[in-house]
Amino acid sequence: MSESLLEVNGLKKYFKVGRKAELKAVDDVSFTIRRGETLGLVGESGCGKTTCGRTSIGLYEKTGGSILYNGKDVHEEKLRNPLGLSKEVQMIFQDPYASLNPRMTVGEIIAEGIDIHGLAAGAQDRKDRIHELLHLVGLNKEHGNRFAHEFSGGQRQRIGIARALAVDPTFLLCDEPISALDVSIQAQIVNLLVKLQRDRGLTYLFIAHDLSMVKHISHRVGVMYLGTLAEIGPSKELYHHPLHPYTQALLSAVPVPDPRLEKSREMIVLDGEVPSPINPQPGCRFRDRCKLAMPICGEVTPKLKEVAKDHAVSCHLYP
Ligand code: SF4
Repeated sequence: MSESLLEVNGLKKYFKVGRKAELKAVDDVSFTIRRGETLGLVGESGCGKTTCGRTSIGLYEKTGGSILYNGKDVHEEKLRNPLGLSKEVQMIFQDPYASLNPRMTVGEIIAEGIDIHGLAAGAQDRKDRIHELLHLVGLNKEHGNRFAHEFSGGQRQRIGIARALAVDPTFLLCDEPISALDVSIQAQIVNLLVKLQRDRGLTYLFIAHDLSMVKHISHRVGVMYLGTLAEIGPSKELYHHPLHPYTQALLSAVPVPDPRLEKSREMIVLDGEVPSPINPQPGCRFRDRCKLAMPICGEVTPKLKEVAKDHAVSCHLYP
């Protein structure tokens, strides 16, 4: 698991707000995702994680930076062949209620990609593929004749996964795929994604705001704050030794299953509001909420620096 599949360097995505202002949704974010790996991207609502994910696969035009998928520039590839990347890269959406067409049967929904890309050798092959995909995600072939509204939230998300897998992709952008589900169902969907990754060698960018569930699926985790990457590192290390004060605060709110340990832990409460991402001031964007802020934090924007193997942080506490 060493070869990079997605390389994002200095990615920027700004939106114009009014005549002069700019909303810096993603500002100088860099990360790589290796083949067969899951990178979890976490942060509060509005931190830019979804915009970052969607821009990284070319769904949104970037404002700056470079994105290489399998060594090829995502933007140039899209201009040359708008469908070329979409077969290789698929997406699982947050809202299983809104992302499935209510007028199509589940079989038709799953077959859409197969039809667009001409993947079936005939009617029987098409049918077999639909049944195989339903089986793969834990549904049965009779489910293919029903409509999305006849299913529970978890089952709908399974249909969304089957639809994404129909074109045999390599990379899946999982855009908060468990946020709308009950906790018990969240675990089932995460387990299904882990199994599919193992069986099919898939690579995931898994976006979520719930740190506890991200831990179970991610090999590495990136923490975003207000359009920037605060910290990125191997999942276990980041959970046991968080470096950035923001990551430490987020993790202090995640309950641990050991009652004795849970009792001895201290929750770090973040004061203040999340500042506006419109025309942000120079310096660390977390400084108004950081108890450890120093004078330099208001003057110089910290750069993402590797401080241990594969573990990088944007904070002046780590020079
Ligand atoms: Fe806190 Fe300064 Fe580090 Fe920002 S750079 S997280 S303000 S110590």
